[in-house]
Amino acid sequence: MKKINFSAGPSILPQQTIEETAKAIMDFNGSTLSLMEVSHRGKDFQAVMDETVELFKELLEIPAGYSVIFLGGGASLQFCMVPFNLLEKKAAYLNTGTWANKALKEAKLFGETVEVASSKEANYTYIPKNYTIPTDADYFHITTNNTIFGTEIHTDLDSPVPLVADMSSDIFSRPVNVSKYGLIYGGAQKNLAPAGVTFVIVKDELLGKVTRPIPTMLDYRTHIENGSMFNTPPVVPIYAAMQTLRWLKANGGVPAMYKKNKEKAALLYNEIDRNPVFKGTCQVEDRSIMNVCFVLSSEYEGNEADFLALAKERGLDGLKGHRSVGGFRASIYNAMPIEGVQALVDAMQEFEKKLVK
Ligand code: PLP
Repeated sequence: MKKINFSAGPSILPQQTIEETAKAIMDFNGSTLSLMEVSHRGKDFQAVMDETVELFKELLEIPAGYSVIFLGGGASLQFCMVPFNLLEKKAAYLNTGTWANKALKEAKLFGETVEVASSKEANYTYIPKNYTIPTDADYFHITTNNTIFGTEIHTDLDSPVPLVADMSSDIFSRPVNVSKYGLIYGGAQKNLAPAGVTFVIVKDELLGKVTRPIPTMLDYRTHIENGSMFNTPPVVPIYAAMQTLRWLKANGGVPAMYKKNKEKAALLYNEIDRNPVFKGTCQVEDRSIMNVCFVLSSEYEGNEADFLALAKERGLDGLKGHRSVGGFRASIYNAMPIEGVQALVDAMQEFEKKLVK
C-alpha cells in the first residue's frame, strides 16, 4: 500500500498527475517518443504550454494585463529576479520566516530595503500585523505561507505599493484576488508538480521601469515575449502541472480546494488542541492550512522518535518537523485526502492512549 505523504515539498501530488505524466514519459500523445525526447517547439508540446497558461488564468481568475510565465531556478531565483526587475530605489519586506529572510537578503544587493516588521524574536510563530509600508517603496514583498514555521497570511493584503508575494506553498489552496498583487511567484513542488519549474504571474505595466541593465535570461520581458520558450523549458514539470490543474478543475476548482483544505486543517488542529500529548507551535489566528506544525507538550517531551515510529508503522511518511521548529510538521496540500489527515489523527489518539495513563 502506498504511504501517506506529509512531506513539505517535494510533496504529495494527485495520483492522476503521476500516472498521466508517467504515461507521457513512456509515449507522448501516441508519438511513440517520450515527453522527454520531443521538441518543445513541436505543436504537441506547444499545446501543453498553452493549456497550462490558460488553466492558470482560468482557475486563479487572473485579470487582463497580467502574464503567466514558467521559468527554471526555483523560487529561490525569484528572490533576486524580483529586485533585479522591480527595485529602482527602495523595497519593503515583511520578515515572516526563513524564505522571507532569504528574499530580503537578495534584495539588499540591488538597493535600499526596509524590513517593515519581523516575528524572528518569537521564532516566527506569528504574522506581524502592525507596520507601515513606505509609500515610496517600489514594491512590498510578503511570503503568504511560511512552509517551515506553519504560519499563513490568510487574506489578500492592502498595499499602497505593488504587492509581491511568494506563494510557493499555498498557491491554488485558496481563492486569491490577483488584482491586488503586482507579482506572484512560487516553486511548483508543493501544490503543482515535481521540482524544476517556477511560475510567475506578473502585472505587465510594472516591467521596464528600472534603469539598470538586466541580463536577458533574468529579464521577465524576455520570457513573456517568448511564451516561456526563450530557452528550453522544463517540459516534464510543466506537463505535470497541466495534469494537476486539470485535476483541480475537475474537482471544483480553487473554491472547492479551499473548502476541503479548511476541513482538513480544522480536523488536525482540533486534535492538536484536544490531545494533551501535543501542542501547536503558532498563534491560532495565523495557523497555516497547508503546513501544520506541532510538538509534544512539555510533559511528554523526549518521546518524538516514538511517535514518528508509530506513524511510520501506520504508513504516515514525512512528519518530522523542520530543524528550526522541531517536533512534527504535517503538510496537507491540495492532493492530501481527508482520510490521510484522519489516519494521522487516529495515530495521535493511539499515542495518547500509550502515554497518558
Ligand atoms: N519559498 C517558500 C515559501 C518555500 O517553501 C520554498 C521551498 O520550500 C522556497 C521559497 C524555495 O523554493 P525553491 O527550492 O524552489 O527555490
